[in-house]
Amino acid sequence: MRDLRDVLAAGERSFSFEFFPPKTDAGEERLWDAIRRIEALAPAFVSVTYGAGGSSRDRTVAVTKKIATHTTLRPVAHLTAVGHSTAELRHIVGQYADAGIRDVLALRGDPPGDPGGRWDPHPQGFTHAHELVSLIRELGDFSVGVAAFPERHPRSVDWESDIRHFVAKCRAGADYAITQMFFRVEDYLRLRDRVAAAGCDTPIIPEIMPATDVKQIRRFADLSNAAFPDELACRLEAARHRPADGHRIGVEYATVMAERLLAEGAPGLHYITLNRSTATLEIHQNIQNSRSAHALAADR
Ligand code: FAD
Repeated sequence: MRDLRDVLAAGERSFSFEFFPPKTDAGEERLWDAIRRIEALAPAFVSVTYGAGGSSRDRTVAVTKKIATHTTLRPVAHLTAVGHSTAELRHIVGQYADAGIRDVLALRGDPPGDPGGRWDPHPQGFTHAHELVSLIRELGDFSVGVAAFPERHPRSVDWESDIRHFVAKCRAGADYAITQMFFRVEDYLRLRDRVAAAGCDTPIIPEIMPATDVKQIRRFADLSNAAFPDELACRLEAARHRPADGHRIGVEYATVMAERLLAEGAPGLHYITLNRSTATLEIHQNIQNSRSAHALAADR
């Protein structure tokens, strides 16, 4: 299993998949079915999201450890500063290190219940992600990722401060960033150019969300402040009662986006799976097919 930092430093494309910790036995079964299918592709890493509080957080730690011990995959653990003192964050990172996990995605997180609500840091905790990045760096030889926002973080008042804070988080020791979901390639390219213009060369991996179900995607897009293009929304609306067509439209749209992102030099792709592998595997297969076709054409 190669260190993610070596993969990115060598200029190779990193393909990765995101899961969340399931709440039920049926959810657990679905997750492990998806993990086993994805394991066969030997991705650069898989990541597990961190919940807003309570038992879902314990499940993140448990699932991440199980991936580390029961599969050949490299798990990246998401970790947020929400509701945690610095001592608790140290303890969680220590638990990961004990399980041989060396990759953490360091996030500030949102107020539980209302992502747009007032942000109150834990009295002995952190206010911004760069502090968590520094802590993890201090605690050992971890690869550290951070979040990036192609349409600007919803709390940022302007682009200038958004980019300044993003760059500060990279300079605190981030090895790479993964974006929020987005549906317009131009948003990613503009963010990347702004970051580069600020003198920062941290690789920014675009996140790919297969938009196969219009209702679900509208909800996610609202939550994450991602613009949902009218053209895609209309096509999905028209297929609302034909799930197979909705699936095909979402896979096609994501494939075109992913191909363009790679052609524009994106350092890889991070697929949101929602713990189901079908759509992401189809997109990934389409990408691999077109990469092989390009390689063949270049050899001729
Ligand atoms: P920060 O980098 O701290 O930024 C938050 C805001 O504060 C921004 O507006 C920034 O410009 C501003 N800011 C930063 N530093 C300063 C400073 N020094 N002074 C003033 N302002 C500053 N959430 C979860 O709960 N669990 C997850 O597993 C999870 N996974 C995610 C994965 C990805 C790839 C992404 C993109 C997001 C994920 N999130 C997750 C959501 C994330 O926690 C929220 O978007 C959160 O609002 C921002 O986190 P951040 O790490 O970018 O925060």
